[in-house]
Amino acid sequence: MIIWDDHFHVDPYHGLFLEAVKEFHRAGGTHLVVVYKTAHDYGFPGLKAEDFIKAMDFHVELVERINRETPVKAYAVIGVHPAEFDYLAREKGLEYAKNEVMKALEYAQKLCLEGKAIGIGEIGRPHYEVPPEIWEASIELMKYGMALARDADCAVQLHTESFDEEKFRELGEYVRGVGIKPYKVVKHFSPPLVKVAEEVGVFPSIIASRKNIRAAIEQGNRFMMETDYIDDRRRPGAVLGPKTVPKRTKAFLQNGIFTEEDVYKIHVENPRKVYGVEMEE
Ligand SMILES: [Zn+2]
Repeated sequence: MIIWDDHFHVDPYHGLFLEAVKEFHRAGGTHLVVVYKTAHDYGFPGLKAEDFIKAMDFHVELVERINRETPVKAYAVIGVHPAEFDYLAREKGLEYAKNEVMKALEYAQKLCLEGKAIGIGEIGRPHYEVPPEIWEASIELMKYGMALARDADCAVQLHTESFDEEKFRELGEYVRGVGIKPYKVVKHFSPPLVKVAEEVGVFPSIIASRKNIRAAIEQGNRFMMETDYIDDRRRPGAVLGPKTVPKRTKAFLQNGIFTEEDVYKIHVENPRKVYGVEMEE
């Protein structure tokens, strides 16, 4: 059985790295979307495009190590986190920061075109209050990332403030404006608004808590499941653990909340459609 966690971080400096991936595998997990953290987390200063580019290469190497050293199939998603842009704008000014982040996102697109990554992310806007000019610039960069993904025919994973129906509708307007295929835009850390997401043309990646997934499946199976595991020993329990997606999926299948068909849709058909990946079954 294929079990896909759509948003998982690894951190060889602050976390368990391969051990976390092995935990995922022991619980029954098979496929992982490993999302870039920040240049800073990877030991780069995050002050110019070159720093982000080095951090992205480092991230791709981590993903390659997972594929070599564990039985799990891992895919890279790479971008510039909105908090990194915010930091850079405050340190060096808005125009400089925008320019450097755009260059870095172009490099992320190149890695997608070369098949080293399956998507650009997490990009978007900060989940905390920022000055209006940083907010506006974050939206511009989010649209720029979507346009790069559109041209490369790869996915984007979006990080945002906490989301509701109205915000989904706002995002839907950006998706239409950019002209990217609606199933290529993944809202990471999505609330269980499966119907609304489909209507506006966004693909929800839903945090795999019991409550969320139960609410999601009542509306249909057009979603993916994620832990947003951050692999940071300094923040234990900040997010769900690496075993959560396989554990939850198996439990929900056992108690009849999921059908076999739901599991296949969520873990195989949906990721295949969003990322265009071929999976061996
Ligand atoms: Zn994340």
